[in-house]
Amino acid sequence: MKSIRLWTLWRACLHDSVAPKGAAAVLVTAIVAAGGQGTRLGSERPKQLLMLGDRTMLQRSVDVFDRCARVDAIVLVVPANIVELPALVSTDQTPIQIVEGGVRRQDSVARGFDAAGSSDIIVVHDAARPFCSSDLIVRTIDAASRYGAAIPGLPPHDTVKQRSTGSGGFVSRTLARDGLVLAQTPQAFLHEVLDEALRLGRQGFEATDEAVLAERAGHRVAIVEGDPWNIKITTQRDLEVARGLSGASVQTRRVGFGYDLHRLVPGGPLLLGGVSIPYDHGLAGHSDADAVCHAVTDAILGAAAAGDIGRHFPDTDPRWKGVSSIALLRNVVELVRGCGFAVVNLDVVVVAERPKIAPYVDLMRKAIADAVGIESAAVSVKGKTNEGVDATGRGEAIATHAVAMLSQIG
Ligand code: MG
Repeated sequence: MKSIRLWTLWRACLHDSVAPKGAAAVLVTAIVAAGGQGTRLGSERPKQLLMLGDRTMLQRSVDVFDRCARVDAIVLVVPANIVELPALVSTDQTPIQIVEGGVRRQDSVARGFDAAGSSDIIVVHDAARPFCSSDLIVRTIDAASRYGAAIPGLPPHDTVKQRSTGSGGFVSRTLARDGLVLAQTPQAFLHEVLDEALRLGRQGFEATDEAVLAERAGHRVAIVEGDPWNIKITTQRDLEVARGLSGASVQTRRVGFGYDLHRLVPGGPLLLGGVSIPYDHGLAGHSDADAVCHAVTDAILGAAAAGDIGRHFPDTDPRWKGVSSIALLRNVVELVRGCGFAVVNLDVVVVAERPKIAPYVDLMRKAIADAVGIESAAVSVKGKTNEGVDATGRGEAIATHAVAMLSQIG
């Protein structure tokens, strides 16, 4: 199928209608509302553009409608300030038109509605629900054809309490669960029903979904069976669940390996993993020669494929002479964060014949964890001897091996 890419923001011609993909008697347009900034996720990237496996959340939301045979056209409503967004979304089977959103969700949907032209049925979907199914879309379309308006709903499984106003953390009453449903999107409407509903919205009624406006306009709204997989991604935890569902947890994890060795020379103390260990020898090197921090730093850089410690902090540069390796580690954590990665956990093996490092392992874990910005529980440090074999075994050097796991953050 030829790829259809309509990049133009049709700001000046919102009243144009899009071309239908099928010859069906009932024309259906889907409005995918991606107007929000998704600030609750705490990400620097807009929520819609976060990756879920191989695609952005937005592309996944659009793809379901693109593949649904009953949907003839898509109108995607995006925030005005995401200028690169049109180039990041495409469809294969369905014409897509991209319009700028408004201040409130209902304003965005209203702009999408204007752009949708004369379709018989309009389906409104929240781009923060990327796991909507074609079946669910068809269910709501069929019910809207019959009743005028339809939403998917799921019964709550938890007991629902109402909180008393003013007094904070007290229950004022328990709601009867029998009659309750949790509303999802897509929500489908006959053209004239949504037109009336949005007119109410334009007159100042505030609503969290379009069905509320349709109810207020006096229309019956049918409830079809919702889909428990059709989750809405609002918090960081939702995002983690979504990445798990989309197989993204494996695809966005990266592993890196680091190694370092420094010679032991007379005169302590010995600095390892940011911890000063009383010993009559110390490690020789241009910086503070902390072999543990160096191996960890290289493992982190390796996972991000962002070079190595020697490239970023060359020992020919006087700026790094005697510099704290814990500070370099902190610096590299920021660097990989800039590449879109956060450290998940570290595993370190220190090969030292002498001194015994066991008494200092927890201090090292804490110092490294603090520098990296993770919990000590995510940092493992293990001591080994080399059984007297080779230079390390003779106590002439200390070597360190480290493995780092990173996860994609945006
Ligand atoms: Mg080194």
